[in-house]
Order: sequence, then structure tokens, then C-alpha cells
Amino acid sequence: MATPSKEWQKIRAEDREIIERHLTQVPVRLGELATALGIDVKISSLPLNISGQISRTQDGYEIKINRHESRQRQRFTLAHELAHFLIHRDTIDRLGGTLKDNVLYRSGAPENIEYEANRLAAQIVMPEAALRQEQAKYGNQISEAVVDLLAEHFGVSKAAMEIRMAA
Ligand SMILES: [Zn+2]
Repeated sequence: MATPSKEWQKIRAEDREIIERHLTQVPVRLGELATALGIDVKISSLPLNISGQISRTQDGYEIKINRHESRQRQRFTLAHELAHFLIHRDTIDRLGGTLKDNVLYRSGAPENIEYEANRLAAQIVMPEAALRQEQAKYGNQISEAVVDLLAEHFGVSKAAMEIRMAA
């Protein structure tokens, strides 16, 4: 595996172990990963401009995902909220116990926090090792069609895959 990213290194060791166990199967089973991390996930009717949110509850954390968005989008949002749980618990507390991410994944948290969450989300939903393995099937030929196939394979949008591959 490549050198763990900055974001990856911020994850607590016990959580990292859980995540790594869930990254071997693609598409990554994000719901199962959330459960393993002890987080409740609800697919909810959120306002149209909100993609997802994470809240501290009495005994843990709860994530809500907007049911009105596409399946791929919901997956990325869940990964984004999981990223907040993994490395931004202090920020969640500081901002009153809830982060609500709008459709641009802005929540009122500092911009670098959202940037980190997006980067970590991409690494969770498109794991490095699996991505490289899959990409190798196509050699160096990264065409539009290949990006489509990879996006479908990982259950993400084409835009998300393009950003990941450019990183
Ligand atoms: Zn966010």
C-alpha cells in the first residue's frame, strides 16, 4: 500500500483497523462499515439543499443521508459524514454537536475541514489498492469509457472518479 495520506494518519488506530477490514471488498459496504464503527445511519427526508448530516447523540453518533439524492451521491455523502466522524469529532462538538452538509459539502466548519472530509471520503469509497488493481486491467488507457466502468465498479459518480484519478 502507498504511504498513508495525511487524513488517514489522523484516524485513530482502532478505527483504522475497522476501516481497513472493510476496504477489501468493492463496492465498499459503507452501511456495514458505519455499523462496525458504532454509528446509526438513517436515510431521511432532509431539506433539498442538505446532502447529509452527522450529530452527536446521547450514546454516540448518528448520520442522516438525504433520500432524495442519487444512490451514488448518497454513498459519497455517507463516506463524507463518516470522515467527519473519524477525524473531526472535536469540530462536531465545537459546532454544537451537529454538522449539516449542504449540497456543496459545506457545513459551517472551516473549509479545510470539508476538504479533508472529501479527501478521506474518496479514499474510503475508492480504496487505493482496489483502485490500482482495477485500473491495471486497462493498462494506461484511461478513456472516458474506462472512467465510466471504474465509477460503476466502485459505486461512485463519474465526477468523483475523475477527481480521485487526478489526485
Ligand atoms: Zn462536511
